[in-house]
Amino acid sequence: MWWRVCAGNSGSTVEYVVAVGANLGNAAQVVNEALANVAEKLDGSLVGRSSLFRTAPVGGPDQPDFVNAVAIVNSELEPRNVLTRLQAMENDAGRIRDVRWGPRTLDLDVIVAGQVVSDDPVLTIPHPRAHERAFVLVPWLEIDPSAQIPGVGSVRDLVDAGFDQQDITLVES
Ligand code: ADP
Ligand code: MG
Repeated sequence: MWWRVCAGNSGSTVEYVVAVGANLGNAAQVVNEALANVAEKLDGSLVGRSSLFRTAPVGGPDQPDFVNAVAIVNSELEPRNVLTRLQAMENDAGRIRDVRWGPRTLDLDVIVAGQVVSDDPVLTIPHPRAHERAFVLVPWLEIDPSAQIPGVGSVRDLVDAGFDQQDITLVES
């Protein structure tokens, strides 16, 4: 279980990869604000933040395109605590949890937490769908060319293999 993995780690820094997405209101502004604030909200330090990317929605109802990005944050918080802090940020952005894979003002997902592996449904790490999502892997690769998903492999290899029908374009800043 995840807390067993973390028990020996307490007090040490974990590198968190956080995926940021939004598709309601001024989505680019919401994502930029989340990127600017996430390290402080996790009592950590920002290792990197990607450009913004525009992506077509994957699954769910008919809805606007998403703006997506990735941040890498070093933090000493435990993974469950990180999830709670990220959910507080989502709530502050006015997110209402209703339709699964539906539109959202702000979505913050934990993609990986160092080498931690957990199948806890409340916080599954690595994120179980990250390896197939262009909107996670493309921004992540931009800021970490040697990124790895524990138990899966290299992000560059996944990106090089391509994605079926997932349009992703860089948002010019
Ligand atoms: P999604 O991001 O899958 O579209 P939500 O953001 O509404 O949907 O999250 C649904 C639930 O997923 C959350 O209540 C959370 O407990 C759970 N969850 C499991 N693993 C993760 C993870 N790695 N990152 C974020 N949430 C996760
Ligand atoms: Mg989420």
